[in-house]
Amino acid sequence: LFPHLLAPLQIGGVTVKNRIFSSGHDTVMVHDGTVTDQLVEYHRARAIGGAGLIIMQVAGIHETAHYTSHVLMATDDSCIEGYRRVADAVHPHGCALFGQVFHPGREIMESQDGALPVAYAPSAVPNERFRVMPRPMSSAMIAEVIAGYAAGARRLQQAGLDGVEIVASHGYLPAQFLSPTVNLRTDAYGGDLDGRMRFLREAIAAVRAAVGPDFAVGVRLSSTDHNFAEEDVTDVVEVCRCLDDDGLLDYIGITEGSSASIGGSMHIVPPMSEAAAYTAAGAAAVTAAVSIPVLVAGRINQPQEAEIVIAAGQADACAMTRALICDPDMPTKAAAERPDDIRACIGCNQACIGHFQSGYPISCIQRPETGREREFGTLTITPKPKDVMVVGGGPAGMKAASVAAQRGHRVTLFEASGRVGGQIRLAELLPGRSEFGGASTNLQAELDRYGVIVKTHVEVDAAMIGAQRPDHVIVATGATPYRPPLELDGDLPVFEAWDVIRDNGANTPKGELVVADWRCDWTGLGVAEMLARPGRRVTLCVNGFAAGENLQRFTRISMLRAAADAKVKIVPTARLFGADDDTVYLVDTVTGEPIILDGVAGLVLALGQQQNDGLLCELDAAGIPYTAVGDCLAPRTVEEAVLDGLKAGHAI
Ligand code: SF4
Repeated sequence: LFPHLLAPLQIGGVTVKNRIFSSGHDTVMVHDGTVTDQLVEYHRARAIGGAGLIIMQVAGIHETAHYTSHVLMATDDSCIEGYRRVADAVHPHGCALFGQVFHPGREIMESQDGALPVAYAPSAVPNERFRVMPRPMSSAMIAEVIAGYAAGARRLQQAGLDGVEIVASHGYLPAQFLSPTVNLRTDAYGGDLDGRMRFLREAIAAVRAAVGPDFAVGVRLSSTDHNFAEEDVTDVVEVCRCLDDDGLLDYIGITEGSSASIGGSMHIVPPMSEAAAYTAAGAAAVTAAVSIPVLVAGRINQPQEAEIVIAAGQADACAMTRALICDPDMPTKAAAERPDDIRACIGCNQACIGHFQSGYPISCIQRPETGREREFGTLTITPKPKDVMVVGGGPAGMKAASVAAQRGHRVTLFEASGRVGGQIRLAELLPGRSEFGGASTNLQAELDRYGVIVKTHVEVDAAMIGAQRPDHVIVATGATPYRPPLELDGDLPVFEAWDVIRDNGANTPKGELVVADWRCDWTGLGVAEMLARPGRRVTLCVNGFAAGENLQRFTRISMLRAAADAKVKIVPTARLFGADDDTVYLVDTVTGEPIILDGVAGLVLALGQQQNDGLLCELDAAGIPYTAVGDCLAPRTVEEAVLDGLKAGHAI
């Protein structure tokens, strides 16, 4: 099925067994700048699953490269042991291992112990996103950092890695030197493209001199920054052509986006609103200009997509990083021609980059075992199969049922509605969110694969459970929309957001609508856009600092962009307290001033949900033991619900 994707690739002196690789990505599985057991097991799982190449996350090569508190560092020999442990974990499975040498320049994201490190950059041009004013680098500082690249690469080689990648993408230090708007120097490191390339060329030359001819050396570049500054355009194809001509590189990695601007940052880990493999066009332009292999990264989540990219000659290998986070065994399943068994990444960004941005180890909403390989990496088959009854077919119940069945239990899942999937089935109905439904499709496939009996349209009560006497009961009865006490006088039509989503707004009036949003997540923003798309006037009143503030940043950018495009008006810090015939009353939670919206035709409530815990109370009263998971405990995200299900399935 995938002849191009599964063919070997020669990168310098390294033969990579297939064209599927995991690109460098922060994991937050680093302690004190060094590799942890958690990180070793994370990479081991992807190597066992069949990835051809893993490129480990960035490693700082100078004390000023400390861009987060959890960055790997390669500034002294103490890093070698940790890298060696990763190499020893992945090499037995035929997986090649590269590392990244890195300096963020002015892209310093967080303070260290309350103080920012000095931010280096070619010139004193501030970082727009992190609001850092950098220090222009002197010739001595440049020489010191370039020596750091070489020393870091040498340490990775000593640790037994197969190659190293210089990170010149995403607006980091080498990209800052390349940029005509960030690099304002008038010395030999600035000016025309030749001058602006000098820093990167010196870094490559120093690395190559340090590691010799047989160790793979590559460079990663963004084909475009997406930072909306027309004058800030680096001719990346020309840069690649020149670097190839220099003859020191074994490959070029192409991606898109930049850490420097909010809009550009979204493309570092593009959310589901972006088209599959949209970065391949930029890679194709580079591929046409150079003689060495080109690797591409960005929204390539399925082997079918990667096969097309490689077969078309747009690139030589595809980063499928989130695809491997979501299903480490994806390459093995592709090779076995079982693509339907692959748990496809849906581009939600919630638990991978979302966790990184929140400062804790990455995982996956569909596969919470990721990042928890030591606890859940091995699934034990039970010696004593039990009859397990799962009540509720949302993500928590489905995950609990599939894990229990995979472990050998006899599992029956009861769902009150006609279809499993729970709130995932709502989220997928929103504009630009259809891919979210893949999470339910994947879980449903697991139920089928492991033989779970699913019974829909069945209301389960304690009497039924008492009569059936299963060995174990899992309650996953979900939640219902929460409606706080409101002063509702008159006959203004009031709707629950869930109902509006279900019928695509068909029953809402044509006039101006107000959406009251408390959770500041996908529901309020999504339903407001859904209603506004056909031309309705919609005001989204959020009881928070800003719309979507509880969404992952890149998903939030794409949803805010879509809402702006649909002309949704947003009112922040607004708490709903009532409505009458055609007026909605709110209070500004910062100033205490009333917010009165007149001429309103309908009010939509997106005020969160409350637990559906009736069955829990019945079972408590009847003295029947159970395990509760998901929204019936307290409103959960999909990620939290699936993790609940995983734990419950393991615990039986
Ligand atoms: Fe993909 Fe979402 Fe999992 Fe990240 S959390 S790997 S985007 S499915």
